[in-house]
Amino acid sequence: MNTKKLTSAELMALEDKFGAHNYHPLPVVLERGEGVFVYDVEGNRYYDFLSAYSAVNQGHCHQKIIRTLIEQAQKLTLTSRAFYNSKLGEYEEFVTRYFGYEKVLPMNTGAEAVETALKLCRKYAYEKMGIPSNQAKIIVCENNFHGRTTTIISFSVDPDAYTNYGPYTPGFIVIPYNDVPALEKSIAENQNIAGFLVEPIQGEAGAYVPDDGYLRSCYELCRKNNILFIADEVQTGIGRTGKLLACDYENVHPDILILGKALSGGVYPVSAVLSSSDIMDVFKPGQHGSTFGGNPIAAAVAIAALQVIEEEKLTENAARLGEIFRSAMQQLCQKSHVASFVRGKGLLNALIINNDQTKNLAWEICLRLKEHGLLAKPTHTNIIRFAPPLVMTESQLHECIAIIEKTIAEFE
Ligand SMILES: *Cc1c(COP(=O)(O)O)cnc(C)c1O
Repeated sequence: MNTKKLTSAELMALEDKFGAHNYHPLPVVLERGEGVFVYDVEGNRYYDFLSAYSAVNQGHCHQKIIRTLIEQAQKLTLTSRAFYNSKLGEYEEFVTRYFGYEKVLPMNTGAEAVETALKLCRKYAYEKMGIPSNQAKIIVCENNFHGRTTTIISFSVDPDAYTNYGPYTPGFIVIPYNDVPALEKSIAENQNIAGFLVEPIQGEAGAYVPDDGYLRSCYELCRKNNILFIADEVQTGIGRTGKLLACDYENVHPDILILGKALSGGVYPVSAVLSSSDIMDVFKPGQHGSTFGGNPIAAAVAIAALQVIEEEKLTENAARLGEIFRSAMQQLCQKSHVASFVRGKGLLNALIINNDQTKNLAWEICLRLKEHGLLAKPTHTNIIRFAPPLVMTESQLHECIAIIEKTIAEFE
C-alpha cells in the first residue's frame, strides 16, 4: 500500500487517465470543506462560490446534517420500498408541510425528479384530463437545463447536451423563455398540451432572471387552459434566491414542484416531486419507483437540511447578502472594460464577462480567482456564476467582493 500522500497534480493525472472526460474541472483538488470554505490537498483554503451548483446551500459538512447522516447510517441505510421504513413517513409529513403540498414522491437526483414529474404529468393528462393516449405534449423553454437523461436532453437546445444521443423522446414543444405571448401562442396553436415545465430562474443558462410577472402570467395561463404548471426548483429552491422557492416571489404555487440539490445540503443525493393528492394519486403500486428513493438516510438527512435553512434563517441571509453583492458588482461593472453586468436574485448571481476578443477570458478569470482563494466556474464561455453557501457572513462577503474586484482589475 502506498501511504505517501498524492499531490494535486498526481490526483488530476489519475482522473485524467482513468475517468471519463465528461467534465472540464478547474485545476484544484479539494479534500475538505467547512461552511463557506473548501481546502485543497496542499492545504490551501478557498471560498466556494459554486456550492456544488447550489447543492451546498447549508455550507460544507454542516454539523447537524452530518450528525444526522452518521446516526441514521449506523441504524438503517436502505430497505427499498418493498417494506416501510421508520423515517420515510416522518419525512413525507415534514416536507409536504414545509412546502405546502399534499403529497411527495421521493427520488435521488434532480434528473430523476424531473423524469418523475414528466411521467406524472403525462399520466395525469391521460387519466384525468382526457388527452388521447400518447398525444400529450409538454411545453418547455429554450436554454433550459433539467438534467441529463435521454428524455430530458431530447428537449435541450444545447448541442453539447443533445448531439449524437438520438433518437429523441417526442412530445415536447420548445418556446422562448421569458416570453408570455410565446406561451399563449403555443397553447392556442397546439392541441393536447398537458404541462408547462419551467425554471423560475434559469440556473445553468447563467442565472438568467425573467421579467417580473413572467411566472405569474404563465401560471395564470396554465390555470385558464387546464395545463399543469411544473416548476423545476432543483437549483433555485431552498433559500438560494432569497425566498424559500423562487416561485414565492410571484405567489405562484406550482401544480408540480421539483426539488433536489440543497434538499440534502449536499451530503446525499435526495430529490423530490411534490403535488396535490389529485395529481399524485395517478401513480399506483408498481407504476413508478426507485430502489434508493425514500431511503431512511435520505429522509433523515433531508429533514435536518430543511431545519437548518429555517433555524439559521439562511433564506433571509441570501436575500440580504445578494443585494450587497449585486450592488458591489454593479459598481465594479460601471468602471470595468472586462465585466459587463451582473444579474441574479438572492445568492444566485452571474457576472457577464465582455470577452468578444479573448474567448477564454471567463475561464482565465476563474483561474486567477482560484489563485486569490475563491472558486467559481464559467458557464457558456462568458458568464461566471457566483453562488456561495448561504451560511456566508457579511464580512466574509466583503472579503470575497474585494477578491473579485482585485482579480478583475488585473485583467483591465
Ligand atoms: C442540477 C439541475 C438538475 C439536475 O440535477 P441532477 O441531480 O444533476 O440530476 C435539474 N434541474 C435543474 C434546474 C438543475 O439545476
